[in-house]
Amino acid sequence: MYHHRSSHPAGDGGVVEVAFTDRHGGVSEGPFASLNLAVDGADDPAARAENLRRVLADFAPGDDLVDLRQVHGATVHVDDGSRGQAGARPEADGVVTGRAGAVLAVRAADCVPVLLADLETGVVGAAHAGRQGVLTGVVPATVVRMRELGAGPVTAWIGPHVCGACYEVPEQLQREVLAAVPQSRATTSWGTPALDLGAGVRAQLAAAPGGPVTVVDVSACTLESDHLYSHRRDSGRAGRIAGLVRRSPPRAGREAS
Ligand SMILES: [Zn+2]
Repeated sequence: MYHHRSSHPAGDGGVVEVAFTDRHGGVSEGPFASLNLAVDGADDPAARAENLRRVLADFAPGDDLVDLRQVHGATVHVDDGSRGQAGARPEADGVVTGRAGAVLAVRAADCVPVLLADLETGVVGAAHAGRQGVLTGVVPATVVRMRELGAGPVTAWIGPHVCGACYEVPEQLQREVLAAVPQSRATTSWGTPALDLGAGVRAQLAAAPGGPVTVVDVSACTLESDHLYSHRRDSGRAGRIAGLVRRSPPRAGREAS
């Protein structure tokens, strides 16, 4: 079920938990087998709903899910709990919250999923950055929204995405991205122009407003791993993994004074 999962004590006595799923442990079939967490697509909606139910029951039982309709933009949704369980997904590619008991989710299949937390205040965030997201700076924009909620030092976990040796792009497209984020430069293993979106995100985090962000890289190449979904490898009939982050409330008797 998980490519990576870890827990980190937060300053208020709670715990920040982060996870990136893999493709195992769900009920989807065919190219979507088995833990497809896509919002839409050709996979059976009932299977997708059951996959999401399984992940949330395991990772964040009882939590309020805050997820997005991702549109490859730079909009960041600031969760304040007012959307409610039945609310529509806001159109955004970043999300932040200061609430305990809310789980934030982003979904990807080659794009870069990024989870963020200030372990002192417990402010958490998540973002999804593809080529457009790196160009528009959705990840640093998410850090800015976290700072507005009171975050100080931020840690970022970078999850599975297509690597620079696999992500071939036309030379013109490469030039366009390098003009904004030169650190994204890459060459495929067969010698053609490519982009390293993970390197681009790391450079943006190093230069983030309010001070550099500590990066924990738990990525793997989605195109090269059979345990992950890849939009490129699977010609558009790919499922999605999710990045998940939450802060649990302090346990009774452990509240910070
Ligand atoms: Zn690769």
